Amino acid sequence: MEVDPTNPYRLRLPRPNYLPHNVDAHILGDEINIPLDRPSDLENAAYLNKVKRAAHDHGITKPKGYNVSYHFNPDMEQHHFGQTHPMKPWRLTLTKSLVTSYGMNFAMDNYMARAATFEELTSFHSSDYVDFLATVAPQPLPLDVDNPNPDLKFNLGGSDCPLFEGLYNYCSMSAGASLDAARKITSKQSDIAVAWGGGLHHAKRTEASGFCYINDIVIAILQLLRCYPRVLYIDIDVHHGDGVEEAFFSTDRVMTVSFHKYDPLNFFPGTGALDDNGPQSEHNPGAHHAINVPLNDGITDEQYESLFKRIISKCVEKFRPSAIALQCGADSLAGDRLGKFNLLVEGHASCVEFCKSLNIPLILFGGGGYTPRNVARAWAYETAVAIGHQHNISPTIPAHTPWRERFRHEALCPTLEEILGEPRQNRNPPKKLDEIVRHVTEQLRFVGQAPSVQYQTIPPDLGPIRDEVEARIKEEYEDQDEIGRKMREEGMGDRMEL
Ligand SMILES: [Zn+2]
Repeated sequence: MEVDPTNPYRLRLPRPNYLPHNVDAHILGDEINIPLDRPSDLENAAYLNKVKRAAHDHGITKPKGYNVSYHFNPDMEQHHFGQTHPMKPWRLTLTKSLVTSYGMNFAMDNYMARAATFEELTSFHSSDYVDFLATVAPQPLPLDVDNPNPDLKFNLGGSDCPLFEGLYNYCSMSAGASLDAARKITSKQSDIAVAWGGGLHHAKRTEASGFCYINDIVIAILQLLRCYPRVLYIDIDVHHGDGVEEAFFSTDRVMTVSFHKYDPLNFFPGTGALDDNGPQSEHNPGAHHAINVPLNDGITDEQYESLFKRIISKCVEKFRPSAIALQCGADSLAGDRLGKFNLLVEGHASCVEFCKSLNIPLILFGGGGYTPRNVARAWAYETAVAIGHQHNISPTIPAHTPWRERFRHEALCPTLEEILGEPRQNRNPPKKLDEIVRHVTEQLRFVGQAPSVQYQTIPPDLGPIRDEVEARIKEEYEDQDEIGRKMREEGMGDRMEL
């Protein structure tokens, strides 16, 4: 076969794309071509040859027995919240640079997702709010708090949630990728779906909050609930996952578990106390289905990993989720511009490893993360965990990685000393952590072993055609599961031309 040197992917026919919403999502060809700022074909070809070599040298092949998909939209990376705003969409470019330079793209199905439609966004958000987002003019400067513009509403236009150029596109692209990830899970084309551009957990139904405008996670979970009776949402961002908790407050079909720094007077968003466990009334099905793990500055890898495993294993045992949505906010890492924990990439990623080990369909979302080099390291390493190659990728960032100098240290997983110099004081005494586990265990006593599915609480219908189509896909996939799996595993066989 004649091989185009600029395209490392053999063009495979896309898997059946019956869904009307899916027609423009396609298996990625050359869009992933990184050096995005060096468009010369020759340079791209040279880069891609190095990527192939890296994949070959480290044995990066498709995982056996399960399938991982990667969902992204490169146009999202081009947006700017403003010069001084901590949220830098460019961190997604840096993440992709690292993921690709290790050759991890060869081990996954890579999808360039299309933007979510207005109807998809309003599956959770109010149409007033989405309408406003779609039509409001960009504001060059954040709103003056002393002299607010009365035309602005929904908490938009301030310093946290500025109205930057292309805002609506940015939001719908983030939601589109997360939704695509959820659909690949529900159609069983993926066992683990990765959407680093999502994870915007603070957005409310009719309000922007904490750098988040559209809650892609809620939209994706609503999609999961169309096929799965129970979804476990886990949030390891340094901030409380308040938007997701609020959205599913009154249902027993979603359990939310958030690990976060809690300091109600000084740290955003101020919610998520240990004893905030959902509605007070025992008659409300959502009672006891919100779990909060409030932490203080300086928590270490060992403490976090142990706490995570103790709590999540109990939640899984009692709630028995049929899918897990894990928000991997990277602002809980040491050295974050906003967060103040002592977590390293390995500790953060141990949460992903643990969730993966449960063998339950899993979506990995991004989230916060305000020191781009740390974000890229964590999400690249966690992508390696997803494909099962975290132990055989090089511990040194590959020499051909675009923007390599931005990583400062050449280690993929630098030490705490390299990141911080001096670790932050740990304000989490073991006794307090034990107390948290005790409290959570007590809450979970009230959670039924397998809550009945209440069909009247099925999320708003997005179009009856999809039910039909999804049922058909499910059927077809069940039939072809074995064949499909084999084919997917062998997909790597064409990696090469090496
Ligand atoms: Zn955060």
